[in-house]
Parts: sequence; C-alpha cells; structure tokens
Amino acid sequence: MKIAIVGLGVAGSYLLNRLARERYDNIYVFEGHKKCNQNHLCGWMTNKDALDKYAFQTDIDNGEDYIIRNIEKAYVRSGEKEIITKTRNAVTFSKPKFLIDMQNYALDLVDNASFGTRVQYSFGIQRDRYDLIIDATGNRRSMLRLIPGARKHAALCRQYTVRYDYLPYDDVFIELFRSGYLWYTPLKDGLAFIGAGSLEDHAYLNKLSSFLENNGKHEIIDVSQKLISLLPPSKCTPFIDGNIVGVGEAIGTTRPFGGEGIAPALRSAEILVDCIHGNEMEEYEHRILKEFKKQEKEWKYVQARLRGSTWGCLRHGMGLKQPYIKLSPRQKLKFLRSD
Ligand SMILES: Cc1cc2nc3c(=O)[nH]c(=O)nc-3n(C[C@H](O)[C@H](O)[C@H](O)COP(=O)(O)OP(=O)(O)OC[C@H]3O[C@@H](n4cnc5c(N)ncnc54)[C@H](O)[C@@H]3O)c2cc1C
Repeated sequence: MKIAIVGLGVAGSYLLNRLARERYDNIYVFEGHKKCNQNHLCGWMTNKDALDKYAFQTDIDNGEDYIIRNIEKAYVRSGEKEIITKTRNAVTFSKPKFLIDMQNYALDLVDNASFGTRVQYSFGIQRDRYDLIIDATGNRRSMLRLIPGARKHAALCRQYTVRYDYLPYDDVFIELFRSGYLWYTPLKDGLAFIGAGSLEDHAYLNKLSSFLENNGKHEIIDVSQKLISLLPPSKCTPFIDGNIVGVGEAIGTTRPFGGEGIAPALRSAEILVDCIHGNEMEEYEHRILKEFKKQEKEWKYVQARLRGSTWGCLRHGMGLKQPYIKLSPRQKLKFLRSD
C-alpha cells in the first residue's frame, strides 16, 4: 500500500510512527516546515493520561519524559469574578520534543520525506500515485476540499513566550470573555506562555496587552499567531474524498470551547490507524462522529455565548466537562453565562 502523509503535526507524526512501525511499505511524508524547525504554536498543555497512553502506543518513550510541569490548579476569571479550582490531570509538556521523537523513530523506515514545501490538492502531489493520501494539515485542510465559510469559524490566536523574574501565577490562569479566552501557562526557568484568541472580534489583543501590563516585569522572547478551527466534525465532512482521508484538526477534532486539540488529534489518528489496519475505511466517518460528540456540544455552547443567550449557555454549557479544569455546577452557573 502506497501511503502519503501530508502534515507532520501531532496527528501526522503519530500516524507516521504507527504506520511505519506496523511495517506499511511505501510511506511518503510531506511537511511544510523545515525538519526540526516546526513551529508548533500551541500552549503545550495536555492531559497526562493521554500523553502516557500515546507515548506508549508509539513506543517512543515514557510520557513522563516530556512533562515540563504538573498543573495542580487553575485561576479562572470572568469579568470581576475569579475563582481558584482544581485541574484534571493537566500538564504542560514539550510538544516539539514529543513530535520530533515520534518522527525520528520512523523517518528511517519511510520511502521519502520532504520537509520545507507545502503541497496542495491540485499540485505538488500527484493524487493517483498513492493508494491513500492522509490530510493531516490541521486547519489548512490542504488536501481535502475546503469547507465554505470555514474562516468565519476559526479563532485568531496570538501567543507570547515571556520570561519573568517572578512568575505572576504559580499555575494556569484562564480569563473567559464573550468571544474567546486568554490563557497563561507556566513552563520552567521563569518562562510562560501567554496567549489569547477570539472569534468575530479582536478582543484577544486588548486582553493580552492588559494581562502583560498588569502582571509585572517581563521580557517577551517570542510571538506567533495562528488560526484555530472551531468547527466540530459534523461541519467538516466529508472526511474521505476518493483516496484522500482527513485526520485531526482538518476534520474538526479540536474542542471548540477549551481549544484542546492535542489529545483529540491523537485519538482521531488512532481511529484512522485502526480503520487502515482492519481495512474498514467505510467505518471511519461514523467512528469519528461518534467519538467526538463533545465537540458538537461545545460548538452549540460557543454559538450561544456569541449570541449572548444566557438560556443557550446554560442549556449547552452545564453538561460540558472541561478538559483541564474542574468546575462544580455552582461555579458553572457563575462562569458559563456570556457576560
Ligand atoms: C495558539 C494555540 C494554542 C493551543 N494550545 C493548545 C494546548 O495547550 N493544548 C491542546 O491540546 N491544544 C492546543 N491547541 C490546539 C492544537 O494545537 C491543535 O488542535 C492540534 O495541534 C491539531 O493537530 P493536527 O496534527 O491536526 O494539526 P497541526 O498541529 O496544525 O499540524 C498540521 C501540520 O501540517 C503542516 N502543513 C499544513 N499545511 C501543509 C501543506 N500544504 N503541506 C505540507 N504540510 C502542511 C503544518 O506545518 C503542521 O506541521 C492550540 C492551538 C493554538 C492555535
């Protein structure tokens, strides 16, 4: 079977590792960034169990080796309200090292790996040369057909890497606002990520400036900007078009409210490995839609927040489980309404 994997983010790197290890012949990979210079703009926060599980599945190493910091609690603010709450098994981890290790193990086993060139559906890759082309290009969805109006449902995010003499918070800080949220995640050696994103407006820029201004002496050492697609899987069909199949954010696995996308992208890649392995590609779309029901609920909640509908927020928000933070029903009532 001749397989092309386009995009070596978290989903593509995992697939590369799993498929190469399972001795699929003729694997070709294409990644737009240069090797080892992949800009994985992301808060590097994930669930510890997921990290362990997928590290084990790929045999790269122990998930523990990638952990930078255990996140014990979250400071959550919305308007004037602020609480401190426990987190769910959350960690920050070195995403670049995790991806590079998954890739390095497998790259020797593939037929050809091309880094530094973006390929597109219509050119750069000859579609009929492969039995299967995997679109793991994230929200660019470079191989599958684009979704009309998708840009409207993508939040623009900016993230700073900041060095502090004294970290302003010892754990995660999250500020919710109507059209998006701001996150602060401490790493180590005085470094922290401070990022924010919003849908429909540029509120995230003001929130970022005010956080930086009000939280002590700091040095900005890096800044990057990226879109995050908030469309759930049901709005990203078809996942399969001829010999092209999508995975990860390309088919809507990122959680629309929390923005959590690492563990879901890995899970979708695992489902795809299963379907390829069992020769059951016709099951793939159904399995993805079933697995990612949370994304559908969160999507409805985000829509209600944007509309400013308190009833909609309560209806769709109360049943939601946040990936990283634990909120009691009382706290949810206080925070999930759109202010
Ligand atoms: C600012 C920000 C912060 C985030 N923080 C977190 C977080 O803390 N925790 C979390 O769980 N999730 C977070 N996310 C979401 C998470 O990063 C994504 O959901 C996840 O990375 C999606 O994985 P993926 O493999 O599907 O796509 P991506 O990680 O986007 O990977 C796509 C890959 O495809 C390559 N590519 C794209 N187009 C082409 C092309 N035409 N040809 C070749 N290669 C191509 C890209 O270079 C990239 O390497 C964040 C997202 C953003 C934007």
